[in-house]
Amino acid sequence: MPAKMMQFVSIEQRLPDKRAVAERTHDFAEIYSRFTPERAREQAARCEQCGIPFCQVHCPLHNNIPDWLMLTADGRLEEAYELASATNNMPEVCGRICPQDRLCEGNCVLEKGFHSVTIGAVERFITDTAFERGWVKPVRPLRERKESVGIVGAGPAGLAAAEQLRKQGFQVHVYDRYDRAGGLLIYGIPGFKLEKPVVLRRIRHLEESGVRFHLGVEVGRDLPFAKLRRRHAAVLIATGVYRARDVEIPGSGLKGIVKALDYLTASNRKNLGDPVPAFDSGELDAAGKHVVVIGGGDTAMDCVRTAVRQGAKSVRCLYRRDRANMPGSVREVQHAEEEGVEFVWLSAPEAFVGGERLEAVQAHRMRLGAPDPSGRQAPEPVPGSSFRLPADLAIKALGFDPEDLPALWGVPELPVTRWGTLKIDWSIMMTSLEGVFAAGDIVRGASLVVWAIRDGRDAAAAIHRYLDARVVAHRQGRAELALAS
Ligand code: FAD
Ligand code: SF4
Ligand code: SF4
Repeated sequence: MPAKMMQFVSIEQRLPDKRAVAERTHDFAEIYSRFTPERAREQAARCEQCGIPFCQVHCPLHNNIPDWLMLTADGRLEEAYELASATNNMPEVCGRICPQDRLCEGNCVLEKGFHSVTIGAVERFITDTAFERGWVKPVRPLRERKESVGIVGAGPAGLAAAEQLRKQGFQVHVYDRYDRAGGLLIYGIPGFKLEKPVVLRRIRHLEESGVRFHLGVEVGRDLPFAKLRRRHAAVLIATGVYRARDVEIPGSGLKGIVKALDYLTASNRKNLGDPVPAFDSGELDAAGKHVVVIGGGDTAMDCVRTAVRQGAKSVRCLYRRDRANMPGSVREVQHAEEEGVEFVWLSAPEAFVGGERLEAVQAHRMRLGAPDPSGRQAPEPVPGSSFRLPADLAIKALGFDPEDLPALWGVPELPVTRWGTLKIDWSIMMTSLEGVFAAGDIVRGASLVVWAIRDGRDAAAAIHRYLDARVVAHRQGRAELALAS
């Protein structure tokens, strides 16, 4: 008997249970538990099955949300998984870390009045169940193709493209400068949002599907780009953005001032069991310290919550705008506040103070002035409003820009935008270099995992079309030669 849907009037929205603050701030495990099968069914049954599902429209992957909710409510989980994985290469990751409040759930019609369907939590439940029950099978293409594709970068964009290309039978080689695949999923995002076994399980699945990983290989240093192009029929660049933005203020050279990604990578490596000398020496460990994190995005939120877990004495987040204008996800800010982080709104740093080591961050108050061309109010300093925050560790989380790939790789003809991101023709995901495609943050600038997956899928489809067209052209050429001879 099909499940009764549209239960939103009688069933309240319930997120998965959240671990108590006192418990969760002592480890790096995820803070949400998983839905029980009963809770998943009940929550999925709240969906109204909209004729025009705005949740789907606002999901960058256009996931078929109403249908997999209906199948979940019906207890047909294997079919729900088939559907969820048809449009998303990592539903278990997106279910955990998409900012759903800005995407699918934020646009669910129930959000106004009844609170949205808990789409992300159901998506995670479906896929975790599929892994546990052995429904996630390695890719076995109908036929193998001899053309190989080289992918630079094993983040979500590269991995999504790799899986899609394997499905078509291409020989897929993924190169990454790190010793593990996963990109920011493995070394950037902390375990309390995304536990590492979840990422490693996905990578194992790709290995079993025949994707070949070449780790510890930095293209441009260990492997020249020109050689990579000669080696493969097509190349996809999915290298992300890693150049940290900085603050140019007095005292920047003091010890105790670190970059967000260095800090988060050390913490993730430590939790993975790697030796991390800079952590063991205390340089990248917040234990027992007064910590000030500068910035207001997702990276800043990850830093403050990591510092809490490492046993910092105090953790403050300095942000130049106010709460309403913060780029970080509302849910993440809420979690951080629950965990004891103090937000110092409308404040910007003006100097790092100390002898050899940092002792305080000097800041001044800001007020929001006239809106800029994008409509966002520009912050401006309030004269005479300086104050000091004690700090043994300051973490700079001000965003990322692309590295200068044309210079680093010695390929000046690689086209870039004025922001330094790679320039592509979006309709074919290709740069102006023949057979060189690009996807993810290196094209969009710092963005989201779900957009990286979307780009990876689009690039894979474009590469497939490109290689098919080459085969056709080759055959035509041979036929014309045969006719002429
Ligand atoms: P990346 O994930 O950056 O992967 C790029 C890979 O390329 C890396 O593994 C790198 O080692 C490799 N590489 C680079 N150069 C070379 C080279 N020359 N040779 C070989 N390999 C190379 N998004 C969300 O949706 N939700 C979140 O909660 C969230 N939290 C975040 C927290 C932090 C701290 C950060 C920094 C980002 C967060 N994001 C989040 C954003 C998200 O992680 C990125 O948008 C996404 O990972 C981009 O994917 P990508 O594949 O383009 O690049
Ligand atoms: Fe929502 Fe992200 Fe899943 Fe799309 S991929 S349905 S936006 S959680
Ligand atoms: Fe269901 Fe909400 Fe999507 Fe409508 S918008 S189909 S109620 S999840």
